[in-house]
Amino acid sequence: MACAVMLARTKKQVVLLERGGRLGRKLAATGNGQGNVTNVRIAAEHYTSDDPQKVAKVLARFSWEDAVRFLEGMGGIFLPDGRGRVYPAGRQASAVTDLFRRELARLGVETITDARVTSLQKRGAAFAAAWAEGEVRADAVVLAAGGCAAPNFGTDGTAYALAEAFGHTVTPLSPVLVRLRTSPDAVRGLRGIRVDAGLKVLRGGKARFSCRGDVLFTENGVSGDAVFRASSYAEAGDTLLIDFLPEVGQDRLSAALKEGEDGLLCIVNNGLARQLYARAGGERGRLLSLLKAFPLTVTGTLGFAEAQVTRGGIPLKETDGDLMSKLCGGLYFAGEILNVDGACGGYNLHWAWASANAVKEGLR
Ligand SMILES: Cc1cc2nc3c(=O)[nH]c(=O)nc-3n(C[C@H](O)[C@H](O)[C@H](O)COP(=O)(O)OP(=O)(O)OC[C@H]3O[C@@H](n4cnc5c(N)ncnc54)[C@H](O)[C@@H]3O)c2cc1C
Repeated sequence: MACAVMLARTKKQVVLLERGGRLGRKLAATGNGQGNVTNVRIAAEHYTSDDPQKVAKVLARFSWEDAVRFLEGMGGIFLPDGRGRVYPAGRQASAVTDLFRRELARLGVETITDARVTSLQKRGAAFAAAWAEGEVRADAVVLAAGGCAAPNFGTDGTAYALAEAFGHTVTPLSPVLVRLRTSPDAVRGLRGIRVDAGLKVLRGGKARFSCRGDVLFTENGVSGDAVFRASSYAEAGDTLLIDFLPEVGQDRLSAALKEGEDGLLCIVNNGLARQLYARAGGERGRLLSLLKAFPLTVTGTLGFAEAQVTRGGIPLKETDGDLMSKLCGGLYFAGEILNVDGACGGYNLHWAWASANAVKEGLR
């Protein structure tokens, strides 16, 4: 949608093909429904890809301020929160989708929904994209069909085949920004408790990743912002260590801890306190250790069905600086279909906008 708007503004005739019944359903669900559209800390270091230099170059051509200008050019006001995450002032992701729909209509972009492209070919100088009920021909094509995370939004990974037909490869795919699974016993009684915690991923006793943020206990594992970030680094068999009081040192905690079941009042959530006390068998040293390093063994992730983003995709190395295919002139890629994934916090939508901008410049 972003690419269609950008291209239509350069007076190109654009046809947008969408397999779903409506445009932008995934966008309308982003950021817990609030639409975290970019981040003031956009930089290549927050992305994983096969070509970090190309990511850096694409991002250098489209800053977070450019993203805000682009979005506000369609309407609305977009503001960073205290953590640098940028949202629409009205905090409604569905309204961002509405902005796009209004702008696409205003620019006269022809939008065809319920059009799942199953074949893309180059015949002479022109491309032909076909779906069950029709076909369009075009001088250039932008494949922006997403990855295979969250298939309920139309992204089930089948669109990679459209690129493979031109000789492109697809790197191994895995779900990221996803809930982590643990054994249900390990989190029994904790479901629904949300904490602002320190989180570490350990493999073979060595720390692989650590961060601070929300951890939410679920019926079969953990979710929340910190877990999403950690999910890029964790796999089955790893240990998660949760520090429920990252700002409080052992000595202060030990001094504050009173004896008995209510000894944790005003230290942690009461429900959490009850569970920790029971697990420690009331033993003080054990309780202190659970408060600072609560261990959970990862048994897996919730998979693509629950993931926000796909790691892997069409290698950037198979595209030029404007994200045009090196194997087929006139075929471009934008967004998550490429082998680029960003951290949690607006980085993935920013990649969608920034890559669309590169394509627009390539098609000038
Ligand atoms: C629940 C959730 C929350 C998220 N929250 C955030 C957030 O707050 N901030 C952030 O930066 N990122 C977030 N993300 C990630 C972000 O939404 C994606 O990275 C981004 O939408 C990718 O954009 P895209 O245009 O490449 O692909 P998509 O948004 O996935 O769009 C691809 C479109 O192509 C269509 N399509 C697929 N195959 C075909 C075909 N063969 N023919 C025709 N159409 C086809 C699909 O139906 C889909 O509409 C979230 C993701 C999810 C699932």
